[in-house]
Parts: sequence; structure tokens; C-alpha cells
Amino acid sequence: MYKCLGCGKEVEINELDRRIRCPYCGYRVLVKERPKVVKKVII
Ligand SMILES: [Zn+2]
Repeated sequence: MYKCLGCGKEVEINELDRRIRCPYCGYRVLVKERPKVVKKVII
């Protein structure tokens, strides 16, 4: 799962496709979303 830096939507992308682009806004900068990470918060 990737997140578009242009519109902030989550985009599913085939990583084999070199021309990665947001289907919603056409923005080309997408950030790879991390799998859910459990954050430890120490109070
Ligand atoms: Zn976008």
C-alpha cells in the first residue's frame, strides 16, 4: 500500500510497474505505507 503525497489517498500499486503514479491526482510521489506497527509509548 502506498500513500500519495499529493492527495493523501491510499493507492494500491503494482511494484513491478515502473511508472508509479497516483490514479486519483496523477502525482508521482508516493510513500510506502508501513505495515501496522505497534508503537510503544512509555509514560
Ligand atoms: Zn494523489
